[in-house]
Amino acid sequence: MLEVKNLYKNFGSTKVLKDISFSLERGKALAIIGSSGSGKTTLLRCLNFLETPNEGQIIVNGEPLFDAADHAAKSDAEIRRSRLHFGMVFQSFNLFPQYTALENVMLAPLLLAKEQPDYKKNKREIHEQIEHRAIDLLTRMSLEGRMSHYPHQLSGGQQQRVAIARALAMTPDILCFDEPTSALDPELTGEVLRVIRSLADQHTTMIIVTHEMEFARDVADHVIFMDGGTIAEEGSPQDVFGNPKNERTRAFLSRYS
Ligand code: ATP
Repeated sequence: MLEVKNLYKNFGSTKVLKDISFSLERGKALAIIGSSGSGKTTLLRCLNFLETPNEGQIIVNGEPLFDAADHAAKSDAEIRRSRLHFGMVFQSFNLFPQYTALENVMLAPLLLAKEQPDYKKNKREIHEQIEHRAIDLLTRMSLEGRMSHYPHQLSGGQQQRVAIARALAMTPDILCFDEPTSALDPELTGEVLRVIRSLADQHTTMIIVTHEMEFARDVADHVIFMDGGTIAEEGSPQDVFGNPKNERTRAFLSRYS
């Protein structure tokens, strides 16, 4: 499903990602752990084309979405299309404050639909379909009573669940979470982790950057430990958490025990 090959990213002379390669199968959950500044967020941002890697390739379902060798020739529309393969859920929710929960979830699918040639003809039907799907997703997030609420009327946990519904509304191949609970109070963290766990149970393909080690151990099929912009260790949760081979992984994990 996803193959990342020899990815490098520099910010000026700072090498933030160095030769990152990994793959992820459909229906599996990958957890990325590592200390602050190890490059986890930058890696997610590269996958979502919010950053442009200096070298490497990103391939989804056999389709090369990014190749540093020919990236300069890509149009903005092509990059926007590539981005649709990845759904992003950010630490700080990033909902549009002027729109209700339902409108936040409907916005991107509506914008995409408006670009289609048959939109004007089938406007009402398309709108209804998108609305149905948004209602369904918000219901799956247990937000059926909150559809008309604005972000400021929702708790952080509810806002994050709207953000998850919004990402799912675009039916991405891979759902990416960047520390989805780190802006939440401990009592709201559980409700968001439960939603992510249920998505994993439904075999949603996911990449989760997290500092919640217990959660990563529980939910992930595969774990990557990043250190200084490299993959220092990877393997099953049992291996990485239960029997870490790298001294740096051991030192990192000991801080959580
Ligand atoms: P955290 O767990 O604190 O979120 P992280 O592992 O996600 O950390 P990144 O945010 O990817 O780490 O940052 C990796 C390194 O890249 C850091 O040294 C950071 O200062 C640097 N960096 C990130 N973004 C930029 C940028 N736009 N310009 C310059 N340096 C950057």
